[in-house]
Amino acid sequence: MDFSSHYKFMKEAFKVAETALAVREVPVGCVMVYEDQIIAKAFNQTNLTLNGTKHAEFEAYDQIRAKYPTSYEQVLRKTTLYVTVEPCIMCASLLRQLEIQTVVFGCPNERFGGNGSIFAINKDDLLNRPYQSIPGVLSKQAVMLLRKFYLLENSKSPASIGKKNRRLEQNEFPPIEYRKYLTKSEFESLFGKKFGFVYDNNLFLEFDDDGTVVNETPSKKLKTR
Ligand SMILES: [Zn+2]
Repeated sequence: MDFSSHYKFMKEAFKVAETALAVREVPVGCVMVYEDQIIAKAFNQTNLTLNGTKHAEFEAYDQIRAKYPTSYEQVLRKTTLYVTVEPCIMCASLLRQLEIQTVVFGCPNERFGGNGSIFAINKDDLLNRPYQSIPGVLSKQAVMLLRKFYLLENSKSPASIGKKNRRLEQNEFPPIEYRKYLTKSEFESLFGKKFGFVYDNNLFLEFDDDGTVVNETPSKKLKTR
């Protein structure tokens, strides 16, 4: 599989998430890709609509239903979702029922994640076809975007947290436990066998501008000492 196209589409999901930030909405963005074309783009709308179910994935699903009124089910079975944050339990359930082909996400959703963080609705023993969910594509960037939003919101309240704490928070990221989402052989077949150490050590995947994984091996790092 060509990972650079995954990377390219994830960048598009980030553009959508940035739009959300601009309208003071929780910056979670997604794109749906069918036959190498983006067929839906959406961001979370829960604040704007005061409706807690208006997650990006549901918005994108509505767009696809409108665009393909008679064939949306077939389309979705061959569609990949790129979303900046792991789908929550509600959205993971929707995606499973729709039998989406693949999900690629940025950062784990540690409180409500439905693709492995809390529940693995994407691959549990259910009737519908399971889907693979690929974590960690621009994970730090996804966390940064969320923090940006919460800092903006907090700065409006008099009880905002101290600057020192904020700076600390900005530089720390919870590690990604890849084994929650993928087996090691799945990880290696996606990213390359030589990046197995990323999986073993819960490191962040690093990409160059083309979407090639560029993590340095631990041995290479040792040499520089
Ligand atoms: Zn959701």
